[in-house]
Amino acid sequence: MQVTSTGADPRLAGARLTIDLDALVANWRDLSARSRPAKCAAVVKADAYGLGVEHVVPVLTKAGCETFFVALPEEGVAVRRIAPKADIFILNGVHAQSAATMVEASLIPVLSGIEQIELWARFCRERWLHAPCAIGVDTGMNRLGLTVEEALAFRARNIADHLVSPVLVMSHLACGDAPDHPLNKKQRESFQRVAAAFDDIDSSLANSAGIFLGDGFLFDVTRPGIALYGGRASGTGENPVRPVVSLHARIAQIRQVSKGETVSYGATQTLARDSRIATVSVGYADGYPRAGSGAGVPLREAVTDGQSGFIGGRRVPLVGRITMDLTLFDVTDVDEESLAEGWIELIGPNIPLDEAAQVAGTIGYELLTSLGKRYERRYLKSADA
Ligand SMILES: *Cc1c(COP(=O)(O)O)cnc(C)c1O
Repeated sequence: MQVTSTGADPRLAGARLTIDLDALVANWRDLSARSRPAKCAAVVKADAYGLGVEHVVPVLTKAGCETFFVALPEEGVAVRRIAPKADIFILNGVHAQSAATMVEASLIPVLSGIEQIELWARFCRERWLHAPCAIGVDTGMNRLGLTVEEALAFRARNIADHLVSPVLVMSHLACGDAPDHPLNKKQRESFQRVAAAFDDIDSSLANSAGIFLGDGFLFDVTRPGIALYGGRASGTGENPVRPVVSLHARIAQIRQVSKGETVSYGATQTLARDSRIATVSVGYADGYPRAGSGAGVPLREAVTDGQSGFIGGRRVPLVGRITMDLTLFDVTDVDEESLAEGWIELIGPNIPLDEAAQVAGTIGYELLTSLGKRYERRYLKSADA
């Protein structure tokens, strides 16, 4: 096992993020197998969901991934430096100021309106380029994309006038995580019409959740993001992918607090027994959301329990409010030896990412992309990954 440590100095850091690149690769292979015969790409926007493109892209490339999706052109430029031969798609589209960068870094913009198609056509014509693009179609999410009717009309016009050179047509599911939602079937049917019209190029509809909706959703290319990183893709059933991220916080101090006393800001929690409280060096400035304090913070009164940690083979409850740099856990029932080791798991094999997110009133995506800059980051991979 190869361990690469980046970020904060491991001797000084208040917490450690461990990113299992073998698990990430195993997840991509699994999603790839589920996607077949479609080709499996990887969505690495927002710095690979906070995990670091410079670590994620090389192992996925080595595993055989040839296609990456990011949101913004600068993210594409960063991926291009690491993956010189990959196809890199820019989901948020093109505008007058970004067109030149697309061409310089060989990025493929997903054009999501007639105005973007015309802008790209003009840009390419003036420079005698046939730069590839993708066509984004809205099939029910009403976020980005040509309407189905616009896409079909554009297809006919492009055959006649050859405005641009599309290599992919794509759409995005609004409710893929809810397999029974009627919008899934509606979007699939709309997208089938589009894919049939653009029959000489690849088509793509499924994100992670879409892959689990099965055959009719796979088309030619799938675009998983969250499931690569160990997050739950589908709202139902077991999470089939391996966890990738764990977070361990350093215990800064252990103190004895008497029954009836209160802890942390706002004195929101009164201890029901004499307790040992471990204060760890992680807080909301590290992306450990304050809302995870449960009823300890305003607007979360309806939710009683906050986060849990894991130490010495047991779960320990968070007490009081999460603060900027420090968080408190009740470790009264934990043995001395485990406490002396000095670390509490906040996310990992015992506290799943999606559970930690849900307790804080959010989703795994937001928790990952909010992970802070103060961690030691340990990347694990086997020699052949
Ligand atoms: C973010 C994104 C994805 C990946 O979605 P996951 O749910 O993370 O798998 C795929 N396609 C588009 C258009 C996206 O914006």
